Amino acid sequence: MSLNTPIDNLLKTSVRTINCFKKNNILSFWDLLNYFPFRYENYSLCSPIDKIQDGEIVTIKGQVMNLRQELTRRGLKIQKILIQDPTGKIELVWYNQPFLLRLFKPGMHIAVSGVVKKYLHELTITPESYEIINTLDQTTIHTGRIVPVYPEKQGLSSRVIREKIFMILKDKPNIPDTLSQEIISYNQLIDEELAYQQIHFPQDMRLAQKARLRLSFDELFVIQLSSSLVRKEWQQETLKHVFQVDKYSNELANFIKNLPFDLTRAQKRSLKEIVHDLASTHPMNRFLQGDVGSGKTVIAVTASYLTYLNGLQSLFMAPTEILVNQHYQTVSNMLKNYPLKIGLQTGSRKIKEPKDMNLIIGTHALLNEKLNFDKVGLVVIDEQHRFGVRQRALLKKKGVNPHLLTMTATPIPRTVTLTLYGELDLSVIDEMPKGRRTTKTYLVPKQKRSDGYQWIKKQIQAYKTQVFVICPLIEESEIETMRSVKAASKEYEYLKKQVFPELKLGLLHGKMKTSEKNRVMQDFKEKKYDLLVSTQVVEVGIDIPNATIMLIETAERYGLAQLHQLRGRVGRGSRQSYCLLFTETEDEEILKRLKIFVRTESGIQLSEYDMRLRGPGDIYGIKQHGFMSLKIASLADYTLISKAKNAVNYFVKKYGNLDKFEELKKKVDQYRVSLITRD
Ligand code: ADP
Ligand code: MG
Repeated sequence: MSLNTPIDNLLKTSVRTINCFKKNNILSFWDLLNYFPFRYENYSLCSPIDKIQDGEIVTIKGQVMNLRQELTRRGLKIQKILIQDPTGKIELVWYNQPFLLRLFKPGMHIAVSGVVKKYLHELTITPESYEIINTLDQTTIHTGRIVPVYPEKQGLSSRVIREKIFMILKDKPNIPDTLSQEIISYNQLIDEELAYQQIHFPQDMRLAQKARLRLSFDELFVIQLSSSLVRKEWQQETLKHVFQVDKYSNELANFIKNLPFDLTRAQKRSLKEIVHDLASTHPMNRFLQGDVGSGKTVIAVTASYLTYLNGLQSLFMAPTEILVNQHYQTVSNMLKNYPLKIGLQTGSRKIKEPKDMNLIIGTHALLNEKLNFDKVGLVVIDEQHRFGVRQRALLKKKGVNPHLLTMTATPIPRTVTLTLYGELDLSVIDEMPKGRRTTKTYLVPKQKRSDGYQWIKKQIQAYKTQVFVICPLIEESEIETMRSVKAASKEYEYLKKQVFPELKLGLLHGKMKTSEKNRVMQDFKEKKYDLLVSTQVVEVGIDIPNATIMLIETAERYGLAQLHQLRGRVGRGSRQSYCLLFTETEDEEILKRLKIFVRTESGIQLSEYDMRLRGPGDIYGIKQHGFMSLKIASLADYTLISKAKNAVNYFVKKYGNLDKFEELKKKVDQYRVSLITRD
């Protein structure tokens, strides 16, 4: 049997189940083996019936003697099944599972696992797991061992997944080791084949742990090795148009001098790193991270100016039309005293002569368009979460390989960035421009809710300020569901009729057409609304300087970094801004978490808290954008990340490439394909 065997070849499996596997992207036996349990039930204590004791979790095996069903006074159906083994008899009690009476027949052998309970001096078992066996000494799958529990998918129960994985492993498939022996022994890892057996059907919990460690190491190793090799490849690439930087140093200095403000230290440092890259004969691959408002755009614009001086074009991309329009306005404004031709390219507006433009601003779809990319010297990408590798691949398809600057305001902890995007050089703007007022943040518990609303009303009346209201979070999903949209409309109606009848309210949600969204945003910008009620999926980068209040409903349901993104929508003007976290919760732990948010300003710091408090899955962006979910390793496991990184360095130094490592090459290739194709 080969591990590449298509999942269709699973024996004794219904077409329906096979289709469910396929739907979940489990296409081969190997894919299924890489579907890992998230916990175990320990049913390994097997006992003859006469030895079991009250309170213990046991597995017993016996023959069915008789079956009956009783009805409680409340109408609950109880199934009672008497079984016996050579040492005695015991009654098994199930609740509301009448199908068991058809499944089990007198004379059958079954194994069951569950808690032993004493009831009216008699011991009984309420089984948590069971299976039919042919003989008493047959190997069991769902009982009599440490039983793996798998994340369930639609149509796939943990039990079915367990059974199928057991079938594959029973044939003892040969799993060649991906890692070289020296790396395995240096890091005290177990063999890969053993790891695959033990992660699914562990002999004991210690081995289960070792299996998890080994497979997590592998995952982190492959990701970081891939980055390291990509980085090496990229370093060997050369530019078609090498920039002259020294020649234009005066122009560049003047440009910076003529900005209406002084750059912050962090901006200067980042710009220096970028300009250094631009002077190289190799394409830049830099990742610029900084909170909203920290001044990334102005850095990117400076780089575009240098590109222009070199007679080349810049492309500037953002995820949505709203943000593209906004960028167009800010960038045009920053460059208003310079002769650059700036073009705006959106679904509804096309540039007539793209080749005459010095700077083209558009959505991420720009890279898919039939533009002539020959003169493109710099590509700037704002807020896209398949950083680098994918864009480089797209650009290469166009026959070009320009400088690439990716930017994000998504607060990702440094270790995560270094682990997942190791192929990119990192610049961080970790300081806000001077004199910027920080947004005052308050927690508004249930009993202060109406005071909160009154205060907002007064602020609007006194200062003509504007307010964002983020609707209660119904479902955490990147794509807005009808349910969330309905809830948003309901909230909007409620606020309009009951709370703010004398004010003007707008509504914005993800199911609206782009043109509708644009109109609502434009109306809000033009102060046609006092409050904008919106769902959380709506664009993070929106710039409305007159809006100074951000009200977030069900704040406890958000990650800290995500709250931070929402808070970043205010505090863009000169007036004091406020962020109000509305919550109904009285849970001390949750309130503690929100209080951390109230007193912390830095996005990256908040994402580090998130990582510690809720695990990496909840970091805004990682879950929200699904741009990278690890199969088994934890991004919070710094020790293992760094061990794997050391192993990568050792490997690359010693071997330089994957020529002699067929299995490893397969895994690295697979990972790279997933980076390029995943949506
Ligand atoms: P980001 O892209 O990181 O969100 P921007 O570059 O759009 O930030 O900057 C946000 C606002 O701050 C803009 O109005 C910009 O002109 C201004 N700004 C940028 N850098 C500074 C600075 N060093 N001092 C004062 N204002 C700045
Ligand atoms: Mg920005």
